[in-house]
Amino acid sequence: STPATSTTTRQVKLDKESELRIEVGMEIPLRLRLLTGTAEIFGTELPPEIWLSFPPRHKFAVFTWYGATIEMDGITETDYTADETPMVSYVNVHAVLEGRRNHAKASSSTDPDSSQGPRVIVVGPTDSGKSTLSKMLLSWAAKQGWKPTFVDLDIGQGSITIPGCIAATPIEMPIDPVEGIPLEMPLVYFFGHTTPSLNVDLYKVLVKELSQILERQFAGNAESRAAGMVINTMGWIEGVGYEEKLCSMLKDVLKNKPNVDVVKLQKSGGVVSRNTKFRQKTRSYRIREYFYGLANDLSPHSNIANFSDLFVYKIGGGPQAPRSALPIGAEPAADPTRLVLVNINRDLLHLVLAVSFAKEPDQIISSNVAGFIYITDIDIQRKKITYLAPSAGELPSRFLIVGSLTWLET
Ligand code: ATP
Repeated sequence: STPATSTTTRQVKLDKESELRIEVGMEIPLRLRLLTGTAEIFGTELPPEIWLSFPPRHKFAVFTWYGATIEMDGITETDYTADETPMVSYVNVHAVLEGRRNHAKASSSTDPDSSQGPRVIVVGPTDSGKSTLSKMLLSWAAKQGWKPTFVDLDIGQGSITIPGCIAATPIEMPIDPVEGIPLEMPLVYFFGHTTPSLNVDLYKVLVKELSQILERQFAGNAESRAAGMVINTMGWIEGVGYEEKLCSMLKDVLKNKPNVDVVKLQKSGGVVSRNTKFRQKTRSYRIREYFYGLANDLSPHSNIANFSDLFVYKIGGGPQAPRSALPIGAEPAADPTRLVLVNINRDLLHLVLAVSFAKEPDQIISSNVAGFIYITDIDIQRKKITYLAPSAGELPSRFLIVGSLTWLET
């Protein structure tokens, strides 16, 4: 059967402190606008009367503090209103953070402790709404003129750049409900896998690198220091048991740390659970978005390079030393942060590689990345690599990093 496409425009009236929860249909975008009152999407206010277009499968809520009328045009997978939301408790957290930012701003910038604004880390199981809460806290802060830093440690479903990365970026304006986080100049480190278990040590090393750079940036920038940061994590806490214990566990671990508060927040009933297959799909869309843009508005370029022009490295794996070089009885240990020069062959096909900012190979682990390329062909005979890059011309560096991040262009 064909879906009804005729009169799909309809209005929804929202009472105060309620929200309209929407999952856009699978095929076509949904148009939506604010007719009366005021409303926001995950912390960002809607402009009055202007139609916004949400891509297929997008899941979101339009929340109103004082009441609003919303008009929709298109097909949704689901849409319903809910008047029970945890928004009041979320905005209360924002108010506390706001107080701390003001306190940090007012204090002498020579005192490193009191001039430091709030550093919030959002933890919880998968599909608890961590990314959404992070976005709200950032957008509310940006609305009040702060430029908080968003740190995304989620290598599975990151919202700053493609999967497999950890990244940070200042948020200077409330986050656009359609476009998401602006991709201007994020600080990105490439882990190369979508689950930390493939190289936990490397993950830790990269988080440390990122934090050191941010620390240095904060030291020279009182404004962003006072605004603080919101850190999103990944749902590495699996299972109901952990879910219940997480809060008390954290309280226990952090009890002797001064200036650390653990706040337990309720999960919104609107958070949509995503299964493994859906997560894989979203990852694939994120990579597509990197090259082609959200609305197919970018035109990536297919480039050809000689094998000898590029150096592809992988980090970790492989025994450190051959067994014959070790004392009798000793097992060769895999060094998780060892840099291995990879032979260019057809194994690289359909992999997404990062272009490092490193000037020398030994700087690769401690360097952030400039962007990504996608390998579309390897010609062994002619020793040529064909790859997709955001633009034509030479890459910012000849040092590439490969992990296990693949993509099938569809
Ligand atoms: P993960 O750790 O697996 O990345 P998460 O805890 O960060 O998940 P979110 O990404 O915040 O979870 O939320 C999951 C999905 O639910 C997202 O698509 C988000 O847009 C949607 N969502 C969150 N809150 C609501 C809501 N109130 N109404 C409708 N959809 C929502």
